[in-house]
Amino acid sequence: MVNNCANPKCNKPLHYLRDGRVFVFDVASARVGADGKRMRHLEHFWLCGDCAPLMTVERGAENGIVIRAKQVQRPPVRPAALAS
Ligand SMILES: [Zn+2]
Repeated sequence: MVNNCANPKCNKPLHYLRDGRVFVFDVASARVGADGKRMRHLEHFWLCGDCAPLMTVERGAENGIVIRAKQVQRPPVRPAALAS
């Protein structure tokens, strides 16, 4: 399980799961099982309450996990709403 915020610049210790957001990924492990296939396991990441609105954890290339800033979604400006 995770102990700290996934944002390396923050690294806040995890005390309360209700604060922030948990991400779970099914990832291929470096270890190979008895059947010759890569073993899989669940990896957990947590972003604290400060980082969760700003950042997200995603599956990147090569089955890696990347932490990146969220795209800010701005609602489209409606000229009609401004015209009154
Ligand atoms: Zn954080």
